[in-house]
Amino acid sequence: MESHEQEAAVCSNCGSPKLEWARVRSAFWHQDTLVVVEDIPALVCDKCQERHYDDQTVVALDLMRGEGFPAEGATGELRVPVFAFGHRARPKVES
Ligand SMILES: [Zn+2]
Repeated sequence: MESHEQEAAVCSNCGSPKLEWARVRSAFWHQDTLVVVEDIPALVCDKCQERHYDDQTVVALDLMRGEGFPAEGATGELRVPVFAFGHRARPKVES
């Protein structure tokens, strides 16, 4: 199960070969709570910013999700503004 051949990696979104390792931050919905995970290693596309996680990282994130992001494990808190799409929502006409 250990096979991360990242040598000839190309972006899965745009096909660019310019991918760079970086530590990224990502937000996840956990039930009704939005949580942010920082410091995630990812291969980031130089061109379109698409992030690619290796198998180990995906498994680790799944584990964190499985643990339910307990509040006592958090390293900080963010206040985030919330907006309603509101009047911008147009009824979809299916025909
Ligand atoms: Zn790309």
